[in-house]
Amino acid sequence: MRGRRDDLIRLTQALIRIPTLNPPGTNYREICEFLAARLQKSGFATKLVRATGTPGDSDKFPRWNLVARRVGAAGGACVHFNSHHDIVEVGQGWTFDPFAATLQDDRIYGRGACDMKGGLAASIVAAEAFIATRPDFRGTIEISATADEESGGFGGVAYLAERGYFDPARVQHVIIPEPLNKDRICLGHRGVWWAEVETKGRIAHGSMPFLGDCAVRHMGAVIAEMEAKLFPMLAKKRTDMPVVPEGARQSTLNINSVHGGEHVQDPDYTGLPSPCVPDRCTMIIDRRFLMEEDLKTVRHEMLDLLERLKRTRPDFEYEIRDLHIVHPTMADRDAPIVKTVGRAISAVLGKGPEYVVSPGTYDQKHIDRIGRLKNCIAYGPGILDLAHQPDEWIGVDDMIDSACVMAFSLAELLPA
Ligand SMILES: [Zn+2]
Repeated sequence: MRGRRDDLIRLTQALIRIPTLNPPGTNYREICEFLAARLQKSGFATKLVRATGTPGDSDKFPRWNLVARRVGAAGGACVHFNSHHDIVEVGQGWTFDPFAATLQDDRIYGRGACDMKGGLAASIVAAEAFIATRPDFRGTIEISATADEESGGFGGVAYLAERGYFDPARVQHVIIPEPLNKDRICLGHRGVWWAEVETKGRIAHGSMPFLGDCAVRHMGAVIAEMEAKLFPMLAKKRTDMPVVPEGARQSTLNINSVHGGEHVQDPDYTGLPSPCVPDRCTMIIDRRFLMEEDLKTVRHEMLDLLERLKRTRPDFEYEIRDLHIVHPTMADRDAPIVKTVGRAISAVLGKGPEYVVSPGTYDQKHIDRIGRLKNCIAYGPGILDLAHQPDEWIGVDDMIDSACVMAFSLAELLPA
């Protein structure tokens, strides 16, 4: 693998230099074509798949995915490496050009270096190194580069899973090289329930608020009730899932936003607002839940709170709408891919892996829920804390080490 160091650096840099920003979803076709050309040279059959009609897909910003497949000398298991090719916005605070892919002190800097073009490059080089040393392997290697993980994965892994690409009859082992640190195996992630709560009021002149009904005050009562009862209750719900960081090893709830009162539509308007009692206030909540919880209970905690206010608070009216649901997922500690990658980490790094669960979700949800494929983990070279940050980087040695772990895993799963 050391002999492939320069190649790995060049590949990672080339991927970073194709800005696949999401939203809106730029250069998806370019990156898929670049990867297809690379993988064809290594004997992979490649297929570009456009997720037509998925959220965000348009002729201007089509959602392209690449699936590459290399069949070995005889039948056997299929090992699939899945990486998302999209990256998040650049944001402020960079000291490096986010798309120059500068190599400095054994690190490559750029948006997507850590999350997760470095992981994608490591998996490609690992597969190529494995094929070169064992051309007569039995089984199949697949590498996919998929769209839109950062915006829910509907135009990426979900689309492919719905079309059978992650059917357990077709694929038996999945590694997602997300940035979870090279010595950790990520078994899965917590669940997500996003909902919008709306309180209702009645508009009136702001000089006579007693003639109206203030929706923002009603929302204030909701938040007070959450502070008094809901947050303390959630803090007590601990999980056996090994979630990192430690603060996420419980149920959590974020108030994502609160909007009340009139919206000034025109950004060029410089005048004062008009004096009105707000008749509508909305709050978006982001509840993260555990394997030990079910969505029905999670929803009911909030509904019960709102119903309690309805009984006790005059004129309290509300609505609540689901915005987004992801169920928690976690591979078994004894799953074949967990054991294999665990042994590979011990062999390469001289120390056994740490088993973790991600606080936020990633594409494993679609592979589990749509594909019905449980034998799936995230394992990759990036450092979790650097994801989405300014001056995001990937360590070259970390990529080499994780590529060794991946190649070692292939050698065990796809024997000659
Ligand atoms: Zn990612």
